[in-house]
Amino acid sequence: MMRESSSIAENASRIRERIERAAARAGRAPSELILVGVSKTFPAESIQEAYAAGVRHFGENRVQEWESKQPHLATPGAVWHLVGHLQSNKASRAAKLFHTVDSLDSLELARRLDRAMESGSGHPPGLRLRVLIEVRLDPAPSKSGLSEKELPAMVDGVLALPHLHLRGLMGVPPPFGDPERARAAFRRLREMRDAAAKRAGAALPVLSMGMSHDFEVAVEEGATEVRIGTALFGARPAKTA
Ligand SMILES: *Cc1c(COP(=O)(O)O)cnc(C)c1O
Repeated sequence: MMRESSSIAENASRIRERIERAAARAGRAPSELILVGVSKTFPAESIQEAYAAGVRHFGENRVQEWESKQPHLATPGAVWHLVGHLQSNKASRAAKLFHTVDSLDSLELARRLDRAMESGSGHPPGLRLRVLIEVRLDPAPSKSGLSEKELPAMVDGVLALPHLHLRGLMGVPPPFGDPERARAAFRRLREMRDAAAKRAGAALPVLSMGMSHDFEVAVEEGATEVRIGTALFGARPAKTA
């Protein structure tokens, strides 16, 4: 137990150092960067340990898994991100449980989240749910996210929904062995974000990109949030990874 808890804390500080160095290389302030600990498959205790080590943002990819962990946590001020594909029929539960949906991938889902926020999500009245649109950077057809072509219409559609607050984009490049190979995809996502912001006539400051094996390259290319699972919590069991 002790050993594990010190290791999550050690991992967190190592990741922070690496983020800081990558930010410095790109001439960016480390304070612009948010570490999102992706805690899927890990128990509530691991989340609690990361929280004790100063991590304040957490990502989960399944509504049900998160529902089962949440009651076991004491994490004031923590921000919960949904980072996995959400089925439309779970939208109202997700709107109650998460502060931000980072993996918005259809207008149908956006409409359902908007309606859920309107009709008593448990959030303070008038609060808009933060959302990021997920763009598919991996050509594999099984991967979630919108195509680049679909993005402009999606931006317009989401901006028209009064209870959602569009803040930026998220993307997951293919799992290249060499993180340098993800650089072009990260850069492309940043360009898509810039184009979307121009279209929206509003700032879309958030770029959620970069995972355990490629977050430094993502930071160099403009990520504002990196989503780290393995490097923080350890290896996930192979079958659920
Ligand atoms: C699992 C997951 C992560 C974290 O992946 P690691 O490689 O373990 O850091 C990040 N983003 C999403 C969307 C995930 O599903």
